[in-house]
Amino acid sequence: MQVLKFGGTSVGSAERMKDVARLVNCPGKKIVVLSAMSGTTDHLVKLTNALYKHNIGEATGLLNELEPRYRNTVEALFNSDEAKKKGNDLITEHFNLLRSFTLDMFTHNEEKTILAEGELLSTALFHYYLEEQKVPSVLLSALNFMRIDENGEPDLQYIESNLKRELLKNPHEQLFITQGYICRNIFGQIDNLKRGGSDYTASLIGAAITAEEIQIWTDIDGMHNNDPRYVPNTYPIAELSFDEAAELAYFGAKILHPYCIRPAKKRNVPVRLLNTMQPEAKGTLISREASGDEIKAVAAKDHIIVIKIKSTRMLMAYGFLRSVFEVFERYKTPIDMITTSEVAVSLTIDDNSHIDEILKELETYGTVEMEINQVIICIVGDFLADKHGYAVKIFESLKDVPIRMISYGGSKNNISILVSAEHKKEALLALNKGLFNLKK
Ligand code: ASP
Ligand code: MG
Repeated sequence: MQVLKFGGTSVGSAERMKDVARLVNCPGKKIVVLSAMSGTTDHLVKLTNALYKHNIGEATGLLNELEPRYRNTVEALFNSDEAKKKGNDLITEHFNLLRSFTLDMFTHNEEKTILAEGELLSTALFHYYLEEQKVPSVLLSALNFMRIDENGEPDLQYIESNLKRELLKNPHEQLFITQGYICRNIFGQIDNLKRGGSDYTASLIGAAITAEEIQIWTDIDGMHNNDPRYVPNTYPIAELSFDEAAELAYFGAKILHPYCIRPAKKRNVPVRLLNTMQPEAKGTLISREASGDEIKAVAAKDHIIVIKIKSTRMLMAYGFLRSVFEVFERYKTPIDMITTSEVAVSLTIDDNSHIDEILKELETYGTVEMEINQVIICIVGDFLADKHGYAVKIFESLKDVPIRMISYGGSKNNISILVSAEHKKEALLALNKGLFNLKK
């Protein structure tokens, strides 16, 4: 069985949905995971913000803007009047629900229900389209098997047993369709896997059924060796290991959800990144064994905050680092980079939701400085301990760029460097020149 995930742009219009239908209509058992049509979730986020502000006029305006797009999609997607009516009834039903929140109470739970609408709509429309085309398929509700635990983490065991039960209801069907991103929480309420979470859904499903392969279809031809928004002539990387891909996804390569490699790695299911606009292109294969160049890619993670804590008592003061880390643990704030010296520790975070409380607590351990607008430049490859020469190559390339922090040796796949945002582009270009200029 294969899992194929198509992102928002790949199902962004009736035409694109038809392309996806052609791609999935081939022999072999598969589960197709769809995102919401592009722009929809952003639009729904705006809607929830308006509702939080009790701005009913704005909320109604947003809904009146979104609905015609779906009506037009129905018009262009279906041929028969009967199918068009079915599509339009679906839109009516979903928009009635969305409009009901402008009249009724609005809380966190309703927010999640609203955000789930994009995927519920795209999958239902796609399923109806296949039905009209006489392609047999089964629509599985992700709400019946996708679940997060009390910490907001996907519960793979639950997902596995519940998905298997759902699949067994139709043992002879070949094509299953389901929603990315949406799930239930431990209270059974509708929830989600955070923005961009459809990749994560695909990987969780792939792991749950130990699929042959998970394919992530987007509108670029794989993971690139550098950020194409800043650097010219980047190229897709043919092969990556799970760890290399995970580092790249976490440290800025926008193509994948940061956690989506974990489940696939856990069950050793290869992940292939493919391009809907160019289905024959090779893309990127992510698997346990990846061969190829030693330095594979560079990515950048923005909006990093660096915090420096200087203890006057650190000399011989064991327990200092533990106390510092516990502060971040209490506020569930992950630390990305860390460097220490005899009397100080510098570390970076990207989640600023509890920054004020964190700084206040840290002040009990020493003097604290904070700086925003930093960028982590992450260089990914196979940096085994017995290899040499990489550091020289990297720092030679960056000789004109001011560097704030360096992390080397934490993982064999990643060297991270902190620079301020104003030097980001310069650093990416310099690394490109120094590390990849001999290729392609
Ligand atoms: N529709 C969701 C989003 O836009 C999930 C996804 O597309 O992966 O974030
Ligand atoms: Mg995405």
